[in-house]
Amino acid sequence: MIAPTLTPLSEADKKKIVDKLTEKGVRAGCPMCGHRNFVLADGYLNHPIQSNPKAGFVFGGPSIPTIAIICSNCGFTSQHALGVLGLLDLLEGGQQ
Ligand SMILES: [Zn+2]
Repeated sequence: MIAPTLTPLSEADKKKIVDKLTEKGVRAGCPMCGHRNFVLADGYLNHPIQSNPKAGFVFGGPSIPTIAIICSNCGFTSQHALGVLGLLDLLEGGQQ
């Protein structure tokens, strides 16, 4: 089995994400442990959405792309929708 490759986020894209989260006021501590340091996941997450969950897992349908920040102490993960952040353009030119 061949594992898919992951292209790390560029430093420019990471800066755009961090700047946008800061602009939006995302600066609270971890809701689980109170720690104040987070790391940015080095890739995007993509959550499929569907109106009929009985249809099974659908590839290529509508989805919610997100970025994740992870508490560096306990691993709690917080996801933020790229669309709400106005960052969907980051996906253009990236891996599909
Ligand atoms: Zn934590």
